[in-house]
Amino acid sequence: FLSDTDAKVFVAGHRGLVGSAIHRKLVALGFTKLLLRTHAEVDLTRQADVEAFFAAERPRYVIVAAAKVGGIHANSTYPADFIAVNLQIQTNIIDASLRCTGGAVSKLFFLGSSCIYPKHAPQPIPESALLSGPLEPTNEWYAVAKIAGIKMCQAYRIQHGLDAISAMPTNLYGPQDNFHPENSHVLPALIRRFHNAKISGANEVVVWGTGSPLREFLHVDDLADAVVFLMDRYSGLEHVNVGSGKEVTIKELAELVKEVVGFQGDLVWDKTKPDGTPRKLMDSSMLAGMGWEAKIPLREGLADTYKWYVDNVVDN
Ligand code: GDP
Repeated sequence: FLSDTDAKVFVAGHRGLVGSAIHRKLVALGFTKLLLRTHAEVDLTRQADVEAFFAAERPRYVIVAAAKVGGIHANSTYPADFIAVNLQIQTNIIDASLRCTGGAVSKLFFLGSSCIYPKHAPQPIPESALLSGPLEPTNEWYAVAKIAGIKMCQAYRIQHGLDAISAMPTNLYGPQDNFHPENSHVLPALIRRFHNAKISGANEVVVWGTGSPLREFLHVDDLADAVVFLMDRYSGLEHVNVGSGKEVTIKELAELVKEVVGFQGDLVWDKTKPDGTPRKLMDSSMLAGMGWEAKIPLREGLADTYKWYVDNVVDN
């Protein structure tokens, strides 16, 4: 893959957190024929549109980073959208890659997330935990669709010989993240809150929960690096976890964001807010065994993300 920089690569979802990082990475690696389509140009939920696009362009590589994503609130409000839209997008792309390109697609990459694993999976979570127990009910719609995507890649490999692989990243952060005040994940939420406190001269910042839960974070540029690594080297049936292997407590994270943003005041813990699961860590030893590891330290990745936030989100 890495030496095939003249080949057509379709990055589905190139405007999102993950797709935009993959796009940047491929440009940096010298890929010249990137196929990028906005929602208005090709509606990935419409089979006829996707088939026509694949038949016309015949990409050699396909990376599926398009999905309907959202937090707990969005998932519980729009369950039909989360299951249907994700199933449509991935089914249309995977099937069209096989049937509409005359065999042009030599590799397909499907991306999911760590929430596909059962609610009570062992920690760190190994790939083998998939389908070993009930899902977290709040995001089961999204998770069931993503599990179907992994299984579809496996089935198309077994029945049709399509070289389709899947990866499941841990909690991601970076440029293009969702910084919504209530609906975002902890890292962008804290960047926003500490920044606003700094600008307004507030004395304290409220952080949810007790600060004791452990979380693993991966900068999206590290994920993009893992994606091209796997595109180049991996052709297995099993999906692959992608994590940093580094855990921090929410308290440590909050202290780090405070420092990176340059807020001088105090942290106040709102213990009426839920902690969520006490620990969430992926077992990424399969990928480590292939020789890949994350390179961006959390402090550096936070500084990069904060800079992007100030340059792109804040109304100056
Ligand atoms: P989770 O990993 O699925 O639990 O998702 P979150 O990123 O939403 O939350 C991770 C942890 O950060 C939980 O223990 C939250 O209580 C804690 N947390 C602290 N402050 C915030 C905040 O402002 N927003 C969010 N989303 N979580 C926060």
